[in-house]
Amino acid sequence: MKFKMLCFDMDGVIFKTDNFWLQLHKALGTYEKGKELTEKYLYHDYARLVKEVMKLWKDKDAEPYWKLVKKMRYTAGTKPAMKKLKDKGYKTAIISSGPYDLAVRAQDDFGINFIFTNRLVIDEKTNKIKGFKWPIGTTDKANALRYVCRMEKVKPKEVISVCDDLNDVEKANISGFGIAFNSGSKELIDACDVHIQKPDLKEILRYC
Ligand SMILES: [Mg+2]
Repeated sequence: MKFKMLCFDMDGVIFKTDNFWLQLHKALGTYEKGKELTEKYLYHDYARLVKEVMKLWKDKDAEPYWKLVKKMRYTAGTKPAMKKLKDKGYKTAIISSGPYDLAVRAQDDFGINFIFTNRLVIDEKTNKIKGFKWPIGTTDKANALRYVCRMEKVKPKEVISVCDDLNDVEKANISGFGIAFNSGSKELIDACDVHIQKPDLKEILRYC
């Protein structure tokens, strides 16, 4: 087998949402401002984005976050696709700027080998939002992949990346094979080997 690991983005690939954090803005009543900040800083200054968003979210009750993590829906075909990949002996990983707790849910459901994501910090006693840890900023996904590869003892060239966004370009470039999944980013589509334009994760199996 030429490829040994599948590396998935989370929002828009495993889960049916473009951006979990914007959904959380909606749930916390900060959507207008959150959308404005995201458009301004997401691809240019992630540190500033985090700083400004935390001004909006700090000390808010985290219940809407936990509800959202629970109700977020998987992309069609995710369950059979993950099972088939396991049956074929592939390792699986998630690298995402989305929330750790959502990745844990997918990890529990599908036995994902490694997850590397950002994390909303919530005080266990008060259930209030306290901060945001972000190892995955705008340009960190390729380095994250190198790290995951070291941990899982595979080479980036042995990885198939499945992704949908501009911040996945570098990661796709260092992967052995890149699958753009219903992507709206021309840069990513150009960087990948194929572009799947059907919202069903089973479609990736023809390349695995
Ligand atoms: Mg995405």
